[in-house]
Amino acid sequence: MQYKVGIGYDIHRLIEGRPLFLGAVKIPYIKGLLGHSDGDALIHALCDALLGALALGDIGELFPDTDPEYQGIASSQLLSAVKELLDKSGYKINNLDVIIIAQEPTLSPFKKQMKEKICALLGIGYDALNIKAKTNEGLDAVGHLEAIACFVTASLIRGD
Ligand code: MG
Repeated sequence: MQYKVGIGYDIHRLIEGRPLFLGAVKIPYIKGLLGHSDGDALIHALCDALLGALALGDIGELFPDTDPEYQGIASSQLLSAVKELLDKSGYKINNLDVIIIAQEPTLSPFKKQMKEKICALLGIGYDALNIKAKTNEGLDAVGHLEAIACFVTASLIRGD
């Protein structure tokens, strides 16, 4: 058995007039995440964790935010592209662990939906993905409702 581990982090600014996407789920809120794509910081951190484990760089190198092709793109499409690279590598996802840090909105009612979406996109079982959501205790930009941040660790396994 061979193993690889990767870490991903992302933070996006929260602004009014944008829909909020996290974990490929649209969440009702007065603000959304600013970004060249749909701003889904969870999916971006997840892509970076997988790319990190595969030693394939980062999401900004693969999908430059200067490229009009990715303007307004659903981040789930970026994740599907990363999954293709994963499939080519021969590695499979052992498990993923996610932390979302958001002062608002309360995300616990949406965690199940996020899990269903991400597991379906990656073709993994529910036991391979954990999602944790927490506030920033009112501190810093996240605590002041100016941003949402996410951390993801990815463990990959190859059976040879
Ligand atoms: Mg991002």
